[in-house]
Amino acid sequence: MEDSNSHPQNQTSKRKSSHPQKKQRMENETRSAKLLDLDVLDCPVCFEPLTIPTFQCDDGHIVCNFCFAKVSNKCPGPGCDLPIGNKRCFAMERVLESAFVPCQNTEFGCTKSVSYEKVSSHEKECNYSQCSCPNLECNYTGSYNIIYGHFMRHHLYNSTIISSKWGYSTVDVLINIKEKVSVLWESRQKLLFVVQCFKERHGVYVTVRRIAPPASEFKKFSYRLSYSIDGHNVTYESPEVKRLLEVNSQIPDDSFMFVPNCLLHGEMLELKLGIKKLKQNCIIQKLSGLVPGSVLYIVGFLIKPANEVQQVTIAQETVMEDPPTSMFKNSVPIREDQIQNAITNSIR
Ligand SMILES: [Zn+2]
Ligand SMILES: [Zn+2]
Ligand SMILES: [Zn+2]
Ligand SMILES: [Zn+2]
Repeated sequence: MEDSNSHPQNQTSKRKSSHPQKKQRMENETRSAKLLDLDVLDCPVCFEPLTIPTFQCDDGHIVCNFCFAKVSNKCPGPGCDLPIGNKRCFAMERVLESAFVPCQNTEFGCTKSVSYEKVSSHEKECNYSQCSCPNLECNYTGSYNIIYGHFMRHHLYNSTIISSKWGYSTVDVLINIKEKVSVLWESRQKLLFVVQCFKERHGVYVTVRRIAPPASEFKKFSYRLSYSIDGHNVTYESPEVKRLLEVNSQIPDDSFMFVPNCLLHGEMLELKLGIKKLKQNCIIQKLSGLVPGSVLYIVGFLIKPANEVQQVTIAQETVMEDPPTSMFKNSVPIREDQIQNAITNSIR
C-alpha cells in the first residue's frame, strides 16, 4: 500500500534529503505504533527493562548494561559463544528512547508516561510507588503519602514519636532483637522511620531507614545511633537515612551499626537515636525586568553535591519585591537552560 506521505504532491512541504529513497516525515508529524509485547524491550538475561547503553554480540544477541558487567565478555545468547564486547545496539537504544509507557502506578494516581529505558528509575522516585506497612504482621500496602495515615490508625500503640526539631535531639529506642523492627514517626512532615536489627553469628547489625520511594523528593536526613553498656560505647553516624519501600530481612551491606556479641546482654537493645535533616544547598538566580517593577528569583535545591550542578531541580519560582538576604546563603549558579525552563513555567 502506498504511504500517503510519499505522494508526489506532498513533496514540496517535506524536508530535503540527500538520500532519494528515504521517506520523509512532515516536520510536526508524530506517528505512533502499538507494541503488542513489551517483553521484547526487556533484557533476556535479567528480564528487567533494557536501559541505555545496551550491548550486543556479532550475532545480534542483546544484553542490558547491568548484565553486561557480569557476563565477562561472553554472550549469554542461546547457544552463542561469541564475545560481547563494547558493541552498542544503537537501534534498540533508539526504540527504548521513543517507546513511552505509562508509569506502572497509574492505578494509584501517577499520571506520568516515561520512555521505557527510564521505567526503573522513575519507579524509584515515583510518589505513587507502593510502600509496605512497616509493621511486620500487617500486609497493607499503599502509596507513600497514605502509608503514614494507615500506620497511625492501626499501629500507633507500639511505636515511638520523634521530634520535628531536626537537630540530633536524641530519642531512646528500645528494641527486642527477636522482634527485629521498631517504628518511629514524625508528625509534622508525616514521616515513618524504621530501626531494624539483623542478628547473625557474631553480633547484631542495626540500621535506620525511612519508608519512602528510594529516590523521591528533596527531604533528606542523616542519623546517629549509639549504644552503651558497662562503660563501653558504640556509636555510628550515617551520612544519609536510606529509603525503602518495604522492610526486608536482608542483612545490609552498608550504613549500619554493628554490636558484637560480647556487648549484648539479653534480648533487648537500648539505643539512642538522633535524626538530622540534611541542609540542602540552595540555588538562587536573580532576573530583573521580566515582570515590570519586580525581580524574579528562581529558587532550587541541589540534590547532589555542589560540583554536579546539572542535578539542580528547580523547586520554586518566586516574584518578590525584596527577598530576604538569607536566601543568598550557599547559593550557586544555575545553568542557562534551567533558567529558561523556570521562566517559561513562571510566565505560563
Ligand atoms: Zn539484564
Ligand atoms: Zn550472541
Ligand atoms: Zn509514577
Ligand atoms: Zn499496617
